[in-house]
Amino acid sequence: MPAYMRGLASVAGVTTAAKLSSNENPLGSSPRARRAAADALDSMHLYPEAGSAALRAAIGAFFDLDPERVFCGAGSDQVLSLLTLAYSGSGDEVVFSANGYGRFQLYARAAGATPVPISDRDFHVAVDAMLSRVGTRTKIVFLANPDNPTSLYLPAAEVRRLHAALPPHVLLVVDGAYADYVTAEPYDGGRALVDAADNVVMARTFSKVFGLAAMRLGWVYGPAHVIETLARVEPSFPLTAPALAAGVAALGDRDHVRRSVAHNTEWRRRFGDRLAQLGLAVYPSETNFILVRFPPDARELSSEAANAYLLARGLLPRRFVAPVFADCLRISIGTAAELTAMGDALAEFLRR
Ligand SMILES: *Cc1c(COP(=O)(O)O)cnc(C)c1O
Repeated sequence: MPAYMRGLASVAGVTTAAKLSSNENPLGSSPRARRAAADALDSMHLYPEAGSAALRAAIGAFFDLDPERVFCGAGSDQVLSLLTLAYSGSGDEVVFSANGYGRFQLYARAAGATPVPISDRDFHVAVDAMLSRVGTRTKIVFLANPDNPTSLYLPAAEVRRLHAALPPHVLLVVDGAYADYVTAEPYDGGRALVDAADNVVMARTFSKVFGLAAMRLGWVYGPAHVIETLARVEPSFPLTAPALAAGVAALGDRDHVRRSVAHNTEWRRRFGDRLAQLGLAVYPSETNFILVRFPPDARELSSEAANAYLLARGLLPRRFVAPVFADCLRISIGTAAELTAMGDALAEFLRR
């Protein structure tokens, strides 16, 4: 298995000015979530609630979903890997877009299944290419929508077309980690398909817009048979009491969610415009980060040189090992001050 490269959290000897490497919420978590987590520490000698009923009820209320068809885990990462372990194994194939979310292939490998990466069209998910590689061995098709690190989304009609052509034995997993940030139309986070079909699952996280990345909370909404299967294979007590309490409280603070989305929409536009004015190629983002491409053959102005320049100033973007992203950096939508500093530093860098 290849090692997974995480975003940098700090640089030795440099004071971190802006950690824009992991797509966290620049507004932080809701103060209510913080209080609820702290209160939960009073009973840390007791096992947490099994089955996450309170959190599932709160998710159901917030998103208008049936809580019986919600399953929670320690980050969507845990739920997605449990799904892969439950539904695929040796001899089975797991299909996903080659330059999309990097963890899908790791879930497949860990399950002993064969990862099947599908080439895209300039980072756009290629539905026909995907369908042409689906066969009797295929057990799961993963789709991150919008995707990471590409920041692009697949329109609702394309998702429906993908699902409609899948054999019923294939599970379509739509990972909507960034669904709350989408402003493009027509977008469907997968929910309509889950309700209409027996082989679609939608995954969500508390790590992004809800600002609870350190608490490790994620969930899926799916058909009852999938939820039952997940409950059988899950570890005992996967969620800690502070995390469960924080999740419920975060869902109760709709203002914080609205503010977080509004900040993201505004600064995604402003920062994207600024990068474009600097002459950099910016992918149209539906997420809380921007993927920017540096000129391919300008050595001094390469993404690698830009990365080094930014890191030396405590500004942390995200680079990727995959050669297709060699000219790119991914920059999370941080605070106004962080993005202004990032924009200023890139302007200086390009002026040299
Ligand atoms: C950030 C992200 C997640 C969230 O993972 P957690 O384990 O819930 O923190 C899931 N999918 C994608 C595509 C992401 O970028």
